[in-house]
Amino acid sequence: MSVKITLNKTPMDYAVNRPPIWCPGCGDYGILEALKRALAGLGIPNEEVVVVSGIGCSSQLPHFLKTYGIHGIHGRAIPIATGVKIANPRLKVIVVGGDGDGYGIGLNHMIHAARRNVGITYIVSNNQVYGLTTGQMSPTTLRGVKTKTTPYGSIDEPVNPLALALAAGATFVARGFSGDVAHLTQIIAQALSHRGFALVDVLSPCVTFNKVNTYEWFRARVYKLEEAGHDPSDYWQAYKKAVEWPSLDPNGRIPIGVFYKNEEKPTYEEEIIKILGVPPIEAGVAVNGKAVYGIL
Ligand code: SF4
Repeated sequence: MSVKITLNKTPMDYAVNRPPIWCPGCGDYGILEALKRALAGLGIPNEEVVVVSGIGCSSQLPHFLKTYGIHGIHGRAIPIATGVKIANPRLKVIVVGGDGDGYGIGLNHMIHAARRNVGITYIVSNNQVYGLTTGQMSPTTLRGVKTKTTPYGSIDEPVNPLALALAAGATFVARGFSGDVAHLTQIIAQALSHRGFALVDVLSPCVTFNKVNTYEWFRARVYKLEEAGHDPSDYWQAYKKAVEWPSLDPNGRIPIGVFYKNEEKPTYEEEIIKILGVPPIEAGVAVNGKAVYGIL
C-alpha cells in the first residue's frame, strides 16, 4: 500500500539552520530525511507535530527538525509522548530513539504503549550497538558480534522488537532500512497516517562502532514484503515474518516493509475522550479543587 503524497510542502519546510552532528554516513541521516519527506508528503503543519526522544545519537533528532520537540530522558520518551497525545490528540506525536534507549532501558514502555494502542508513531534507529557511549553491546546486537563489552562475541539472544510489539497488541508494525530512503519514507508516511500505536524499526548502520552490520551487509539481505506478496492484515503471517530474522535465522534474509496493520481497535486517547467527553486539554484538570486548563 502506498500513501498519497501532496505538493503542499517540501522536506525543506521541516529543516532547521543547524546541521546534524552525527558521524558522516550514519544511518540517522536517512531516518531524518525520510521523516521530513513523509511529513511533507502528508502536508502536516509543522506546529501540529511534536517529536519526543530519549538519549542516544538518534535521540538528538528533534534538534534538527522544525517542529515542536522534547529531548527527554533515557528510555522515557514514550511516557512523555503518551502524555502529550492524551492531552491533545489532534497533535501528530512521534517518538524517535535508538535500540539501546528503546529496547533496553525503555522496552517496557513500548509494550504498554502497544497494548494501550496509544496513537503515537515510534521510530527506532536500530544500529545494534550503543553508539553515543562508543560501542557497547545493545539489546539487538547479534550473537557472536564482538563489541567493547563483548570481546569474545555476544552470548545473548537479541531482542526481536517486531515480535514483541505484535505480541503486545501493536496495531501497526513495520521495519525499514535507512539505506533505502524512498522505501522508508513510504513506511513512515503509512505509520503517521495510522490510527493507533505504530512501530517503525529501522535498520540503521552505525558506521563508526558497528563494523559487522554495515550498509553492504543489509543490502545483501533485505527484501521487500510488498514484493513478496505479504498480506499486512494477516496477524499470524505478520508474526511468522517478524521471527524470520533474527530469531529463526540470524544469517538469513531480512524482510522490510509493513508487517501488520489493523485499525479496528480503539486508541487510548479515544477511550479517554469517551470518559471525559472532550480531550483533556479542553476539559481542564482539577488540582486541589481548582481547574487547571490545558495541563495534564
Ligand atoms: Fe551514528 Fe554511530 Fe556516529 Fe552515533 S556513533 S552518530 S550512531 S555513526
